[in-house]
Amino acid sequence: MKKLQTTFIVVIIFSSFLLVYNFYNSYKFNNNELSNEIMNELSQKESIILNNIYNKYNINAKVPIIISNKMGNSLYGLATLDTKNKIKIYLNKKMFQESKDYMINNVLAHEYAHAMMFIFGDKSRQKKGHSLKWVNICKKIGGVKCEQYVNSDDIVMAKRNIF
Ligand SMILES: [Zn+2]
Repeated sequence: MKKLQTTFIVVIIFSSFLLVYNFYNSYKFNNNELSNEIMNELSQKESIILNNIYNKYNINAKVPIIISNKMGNSLYGLATLDTKNKIKIYLNKKMFQESKDYMINNVLAHEYAHAMMFIFGDKSRQKKGHSLKWVNICKKIGGVKCEQYVNSDDIVMAKRNIF
């Protein structure tokens, strides 16, 4: 009996630790920047994309990338053009938790292709910004599966607040 009790107590203590550990991890994720490891992977992919852009178009297209936790749950990324013609790319921080590889391999190039459309002054709303010209740019700069996201608009041009 004593042995069973001890086992029970050990299990409870272990579970409590696990609970606290999980809570701590999710707390850490919500309140801090993305890990250095993820940021490194992201910037490596960005270098590849920027190199491709430079090789194909002879343009230095670096734009600010903002990791945001204010974006809706269905939105992976967003490319914005403000009234001063400044371009920014927003990436949804929440999506890195479950879809890190997708964010790095697909979403970054997808949004950079929108940034390129802005750089070229192409404000076409065709397919919500995903015209054939956009698809071609996306593929050329190293995008994977260059297509519109399901259920979300991911370009914003001036006029309104982003969030
Ligand atoms: Zn898009």
